[in-house]
Amino acid sequence: MAYHVKKSVSKGVYHNLELLYQQINSLYFDNQIEAEITWGRFGTYAPRKRSIRLGSYCSQKKRILIHPAMDQACVPRICLERVIHHEMLHQKFPASKHPSGRRSVHGRQFKSAEQEFKNAELADAWFKDNLKRLLS
Ligand SMILES: [Zn+2]
Repeated sequence: MAYHVKKSVSKGVYHNLELLYQQINSLYFDNQIEAEITWGRFGTYAPRKRSIRLGSYCSQKKRILIHPAMDQACVPRICLERVIHHEMLHQKFPASKHPSGRRSVHGRQFKSAEQEFKNAELADAWFKDNLKRLLS
């Protein structure tokens, strides 16, 4: 895991994860997702060069962790919603194993469900322009 969990901290300074999670759960998942959501902690987090993870989902603990750098006033809500939606999809579409033995984390169903997220292009454009600054 890239960073540690501070227990049950879903209310950040600027963004309330629990609230966003509930809205997304009702809007996109028919309230069928059951997960805990919390901010990760700064500290042991080491940014990875290629894939920068702003969120993660642990299927054993049913817990979504969101990178604490996202709790800033400058981060648009849509961007948080985009990351939360993505992590929630991991519960709906668990990783599967290909006949070849390769693990598929973001399979075809996952990706097509991800495309249902509204205004994804707005969130992605913001990430494209601001991700480096956000994590620096
Ligand atoms: Zn993912």
